[in-house]
Order: sequence, then C-alpha cells, then structure tokens
Amino acid sequence: MKRICVNCGSSPGFDPVYMEVAEKLGSVLAKRNIELVYGGADVGLMGKVADTVLQSDGNVIGIIPKSFAHKVSHQGLTELHVVNSMHERKMMMFEKSDGFIALPGGFGTIEEVTELLTWSQLGLSCKPCGIINVNGYFDSLLSFFNGAVNEGFMKQEHRDMLLEDVSPEGILDKLYNYKYPTIEKWVGVKTRT
Ligand code: AMP
Repeated sequence: MKRICVNCGSSPGFDPVYMEVAEKLGSVLAKRNIELVYGGADVGLMGKVADTVLQSDGNVIGIIPKSFAHKVSHQGLTELHVVNSMHERKMMMFEKSDGFIALPGGFGTIEEVTELLTWSQLGLSCKPCGIINVNGYFDSLLSFFNGAVNEGFMKQEHRDMLLEDVSPEGILDKLYNYKYPTIEKWVGVKTRT
C-alpha cells in the first residue's frame, strides 16, 4: 500500500485524545513510507495528520474544492490540487489511494466513509476502509450499522467491510489483510422472471 486517504474532522474535538491519535497516525504513515492523501485543509484533525507526516519527511497530497480553498487550504503540502467540486475531490481522493482510514469527525467524515462503503457493496470499489475508534467515538455509528443488519437493510458481510481498530498500527494491519467479499448487494430481492 503506497497511499492511504485519511478522512477526519476539520475540527479538533474537545478531548485532546483526538489530536493525539491524528498525530500518531501521521507519524505511523510516515514511518511506513505511506503517502497521505486527504482533504487539503490546515484545520482540525486534518491539519494535524498532514503536519505530522510533513514533519516526519513524508509526502502529503491535498485535494480541496476551489469554493473554500482560499479559506483553509494547507500551504506547505507536497502537492495541492484545487478542484471544481466536492464530487471531483472525492473521486480524485479515491483514485489516488489504495485504502482509507477515518478518524473522528462530523458530517463530512461520516459521509466520506459511508460513500466508500456504498461503492464497495455495489462492487464499484474493492479498496479497504477502516475507522480508528478512539475513545469509543464511533460506537453509536457501529450500533446503528448493526441495527441495520438486524432489521434487514444491510448484509452482515457488507457491515463487516468496515474495518475497525483503536490504534493506527492495528487498523493498518487490518487494511493490509482485507479481502473484498464477493457478495451480491441486494437483500431479499425477488427473482425477476
Ligand atoms: P467534518 O467531519 O464535517 O469536519 O468534515 C471533514 C471531512 O469533510 C474531511 O475529510 C474533508 O474531506 C471534508 N471537509 C469538511 N470541512 C472541510 C474543511 N473546512 N476543509 C476541508 N475539508 C473539509
């Protein structure tokens, strides 16, 4: 795996543990010679992961839409791509990356994670996607997904595509060992005649 995309909060969160795990992830990526692909901002956890990779002599590719590039783009990246839209940004982040890791975040982070999983269950992506569940931050989201399986809206195999661990090293190992499940998306679909 040469490049990992990190999706995470553009805010720092209240508990210092969130910035600490962002810093740890950045240093583990640099140590393993993995390039960082991310949203190109210099704020919150996003800025912390990018700064740490750069300070550890790693490479960082940022991709940011022009609508807010002037407000928050990081000025010291190895590469900064300013694109026309959020959709273009997410497609470029997807194409440039071999796998995806999310740290805590808000709507933007959750949207990016669930979009990747949606693509995976439709067979449009077979790249691994994981979360670092520091401080139990993602527990309620994981319970929601488990509930969706129990209520018949998601297959267990698709739920299990979302890898989880509490540490950067742990999630990277799971990304390396990931095997894409070849299973049809549709739950309880009627056979067409
Ligand atoms: P959020 O979790 O809502 O803070 O959103 C963070 C995620 O959405 C990041 O992974 C970015 O790709 C995108 N995003 C949201 N807000 C920003 C921002 N101000 N600057 C850059 N990217 C952002």
